[in-house]
This record gives sequence, structure tokens and C-alpha cells, in this order.
Amino acid sequence: MRLTGWAKRAETHPLRLLLDSEGRSDLVSFAIGVPPADSLPSRALARAFDRLLADPQALMLNPPSHELRRGITDLMAKRGVDCGPNTVFLTDGAQQALDLLVRLLVRPGDEVLVDPVTYTGMLMALQPSGGRASGVEGGAGQTMDLDALAKRLERGPRPAFIYTMADGHNPLGVSMGLDQRERLVELGHRHGVPIVEDDPYGWLDLDEEWLPPLHALNPDEVIYVGTFSKIAGPALRCGWILAPQGLRAKLSLVRDLAAIDSANLVQQALGDLLGRGELEASLTATRVELRRRRAWMLTALADHFSTPTWPSATWTSPNAGLFVWLQLAGVDAAARLPAAIERGVAYVPGSAFAVGSSEAELESALRLSFGGCDRAAIDIGVERLAEVLRS
Ligand code: PMP
Repeated sequence: MRLTGWAKRAETHPLRLLLDSEGRSDLVSFAIGVPPADSLPSRALARAFDRLLADPQALMLNPPSHELRRGITDLMAKRGVDCGPNTVFLTDGAQQALDLLVRLLVRPGDEVLVDPVTYTGMLMALQPSGGRASGVEGGAGQTMDLDALAKRLERGPRPAFIYTMADGHNPLGVSMGLDQRERLVELGHRHGVPIVEDDPYGWLDLDEEWLPPLHALNPDEVIYVGTFSKIAGPALRCGWILAPQGLRAKLSLVRDLAAIDSANLVQQALGDLLGRGELEASLTATRVELRRRRAWMLTALADHFSTPTWPSATWTSPNAGLFVWLQLAGVDAAARLPAAIERGVAYVPGSAFAVGSSEAELESALRLSFGGCDRAAIDIGVERLAEVLRS
């Protein structure tokens, strides 16, 4: 069969091996970024689906749920974002949102400026567009350096947009300070370059600092991508975009090319859940549990990755989200992955987040997600990890 150029070039994505091994009962997975299943609102959602399906009309195609868009507006208000239900464009998750935005904003040859390491799914979404990600340098374990960004923007060419995560960065786990947020938004504005803010983890602010999302600082020029994956369940496949009116109309057109609609039944159930204020309790429970898991992970790392065996090991201490970025030296994390899975522990090698040519430092880095593991799993998983990476 004759494939298009990009389909020919497309390879199995780096996370496939991990997805295939998920579900093995003896495997401790630090690989997939999932929240604790027990704190998700499954019972409240079961009641919502029950109520909905009492009316057969629920199974027909319905307009995008106003109740859900109103609920998202109320959620966003708690983060300092003042938007109306009509500015919310519903998607089948954040990944679809990124794909749609790339289709609308990236022309062949365009650059998208990203952090020195970034979310693999964004790199994948860029592939068919003929555009490419360009990493702005940053310090070890840090997001893009804003002096370097300023120089890059002054030098040109003008990128299609800047893509980043201000809270609980994937894979670094770090969040931006207020000054950093303000300067980034100001730089985008000064150079007329839109910012795409991907925010699955802002709701998981473990230190309850609640700094404003970038979108709150400039709603006209920062496009916001949200998702219920980390706060109500990844199987729901529901997310949203906050974007100016002109862009929303186009979003609807490109979405309709690939799918007649977004998962409307799920939207209605989530709308009901939010309308009854039932997400709040589970969101608090999720944060409480994640705070405990983060502490266990940081303690386990200190126990197993300290001197003298690991003299140069460093790791980030996340204030939001699900990830710790472990930086080692002289270890090929991708090459060790099959042995690690064999030993019963999985992680994502740093090279999966590389932008363009991979730097040597990234080869020795690992992303560890603590969201899906209880204390016993974290303890045994980190012990196995130290053992397998040492050998
Ligand atoms: N963006 C980032 C930064 C993510 O970490 C993820 C999930 N891993 C996504 C987007 C995709 O989210 P969703 O499940 O809503 O498609």
C-alpha cells in the first residue's frame, strides 16, 4: 500500500513497549502517568450515568454539553481564569486538543518552541504537520530558560507557537514561579507568538500554591488545554480548549473531519458530576493521596540513590503532578529498560522526551511516575530500579 511520507517515517512510539507490559501483576510501573485509581470519582460517575441513561435520548447525538462547559468555567474560575461556557471547546482529551491545534496553527517548515525536554505526545502530534519542535535550552531538570527564549524570539524566524506546561511539567515534574509565568507571557505578547499551555497537572497542585495558569495572565494570546484524565479518569477521554472565538470555529471544523462529535455521553455524565459539585471531594482526595505517594517516592530515592554508589544522582521534587525526573550519570536508561521490566519495574527513559538530537545527559535520565503506586510498590520498585541500573 502506498503510504504518505510521514506515515512511512512514523515508527512505533517509544511508549509502546511500556503500554504492552502494563497490567503484568508483578510489575511495578513508574512508567504511565496515572492518578491513584481509588480516589477517582467512580461511584459518583456510576450514579451520573444511571440517571442519564434512564432517558434513551442520552444515547442520541446531543449538542456539546452546556452543563459541562458551565462546570469547566466554574473550575477555571477557581484558578483565576474568567471565561464563559461559550469559550470552552470540548475534546476527546488533551492529546486530541494538541493534534487539532497543530493542524490549525503549524505550517510545513514551521518551528514550535518547546522546553529542552517535553511531552512525547506533543512531538508525535507535530509529525504529520511538516513542522518541527525546537527545544529552547534550560538548566538541568528545568523548563526553558527565558533569556534563551528572548534571544531566540528576537533572532527569528517566528515560531508557530510556544508550547509548555507551567504546572507539574511532564516529564520534569517542576512548576514555574510567578515571575517566570509573567515573563513568559510577556515575551509571547511582545513577539506576537501565541502560547499553548498544556495543563493536565495544574489541578494536582500538591503544595496548594495555586499560582495562576498562563492563560489567566493573557486569555487572548494563551491557548489553554485542559483534561479530565488525571482528575476524573483517563478512560473518560474528555478534555477542553480555551481559545479565542475565531480559533474555536475552526477547531470545530477540523475535529469534524476526524470524528462526527466528541464523546457526548461522557460529557453529559461529567457535566452532571460537576453540576452537583461531586468532583471537588475526589479531587481533594486525589491530591492528599498523591502528596503521600510523592513523600514515599522521595524517601525511597534518598534511600537507594545516594552516595557512594550514585555520587551524582539528582532528582526533582515536584510541587504538582505525578512525575519525578531522576538524573543519573553513565547509565543508558533506554538500553536498561528491557532488563528493568524483566526485573519487575518500568519507567520512561529520558530520551523519550528528547527534542531533536538527544543530548548525552538525557540518556542517563528517567521519568518516574508515583501516581499509580502505593507505598509497598514504591519501596520495592525503587529498590529494584537501583539494583538493575547498578548492574
Ligand atoms: N499533555 C500532557 C502533558 C500529558 O501528560 C498528557 C497525558 N499523558 C496529555 C497531554 C494527554 O492527555 P489526555 O489523556 O487528556 O489525552
